[in-house]
Amino acid sequence: MGENSGFSCPEQQRVGCGLGGIYTALSIGGVLPVLHSGPGCIHAMNSVLSLSNGGQNPVPFMELSVPCSNLSEEDVVFGAGGKIRSVLEHALRYYKAEIFLIITGCSAEIIGEDMQEVADEFSTPEKTVLPVALPGFKGNNVWGHGQILSALIDGFVEPYGERGTVKGRVNVLGVVPFYDPMWAGTLERLECLLKQIGLEPNILYGRDKGIQELKRIPTAEFNLVLAPWTDLDAAKKLKRKFGTPYVHFPYMPVGPTAEAELIRVLTETAALDVQKTESIIKDRTDRYFYYFDRNLNWLFDMHNQRSLPREFFANTSASAALSITKYLVWDLGLSPRKIFIPEDVPKKHQPGVRDLFLQTAKGYLKEEDIVFTDDGGLFEQYLKDVDQTVRKSAVFGSIWDDITAKKANMPFVPVGTPYGDNLICDKNYFGTDGALCLMADLYNDAEKKGLLSAVI
Ligand code: SF4
Repeated sequence: MGENSGFSCPEQQRVGCGLGGIYTALSIGGVLPVLHSGPGCIHAMNSVLSLSNGGQNPVPFMELSVPCSNLSEEDVVFGAGGKIRSVLEHALRYYKAEIFLIITGCSAEIIGEDMQEVADEFSTPEKTVLPVALPGFKGNNVWGHGQILSALIDGFVEPYGERGTVKGRVNVLGVVPFYDPMWAGTLERLECLLKQIGLEPNILYGRDKGIQELKRIPTAEFNLVLAPWTDLDAAKKLKRKFGTPYVHFPYMPVGPTAEAELIRVLTETAALDVQKTESIIKDRTDRYFYYFDRNLNWLFDMHNQRSLPREFFANTSASAALSITKYLVWDLGLSPRKIFIPEDVPKKHQPGVRDLFLQTAKGYLKEEDIVFTDDGGLFEQYLKDVDQTVRKSAVFGSIWDDITAKKANMPFVPVGTPYGDNLICDKNYFGTDGALCLMADLYNDAEKKGLLSAVI
């Protein structure tokens, strides 16, 4: 449990333990996690963050091929330094990677052997070995993601990174791979947009991303954090180490308003060609409204017999909840009723995240409507006491909320972990194009459940 846990008993798991941070490593080509943990740890992560999360699977290193020391009770009593050395030796010989991360889970951390010593023993000029402690008793997978990034910056980017500043180059931060089930498609679309407006995005995760992108990190003109709180610590670290300033744009844009805001912020920050970026905004917005008018506008006609709900709940990560809140409030005129954030947001970030929701919700939310928790089942409990007969609402969350929404006769759209068994492929809700997809998903679920004519 995390720092906000108290004595509650969380239900409906929506995060993995700290060891789930390995999915960040598995998203960067040339980086291999070598587990020093019990044999079941990776399977515990897999069930939340990978296969049951949109059918995702890390490539090229699938979970089943990730080396592990498979610690047993005997190892905890008598030590396991020999075991991890043997596993590491074989991993270095047979796996095609440049960075090997010794990931210690709970049992290895309880043994308490010095993994820095092991890493130093096996590191060579060609292959970097780094220790990263990710025991579940210290935090969840979002915390684990931060630990992986921090270890890579300190142990690889700082000693081996390029130097100098490249005009227009921007490191993209804020996305937690796999935990954000749409991370891959989102980052691809974002990369296209940033290139289109004249920037050189340096994205660390996904197809064809890897060691080269890590090495380029110090050469960025600025860092871009696209999340309410994740990776803010990494951006501050990069500022301290390399003097790189950062822009905190707190949500991955969904819809024309947020997308235009992001483009304008970047135009000003990087002194881009204003005429060019304004024309890109116009073109993308025009396309959005062409399809919106064609397919969706009539849904907001009060005289129409078929209408979508005017309100919504979110029960998901702060990042996903803020992005969809921005779109639903600013572009569609829906109002949020309550936002549950079951990802154990660290206390130091909670006031900032709460303020972001209050600003984004245009007065529809009060402070108590933003609920920080590690209990994914809290929303279901809350809903039992809420009258849904008059004010029909939509629900945005994980596959757990699909069950809750069905019981309450509410339309539902999955936006967070666990996404469920539906394949995610490159699906995303990024920008103007993604917003159309989000609206279609909401409509289709309401239609499937026969809720369009029943809602007002
Ligand atoms: S909580 Fe500890 S023992 Fe459990 S899966 Fe995570 S690292 Fe392994």
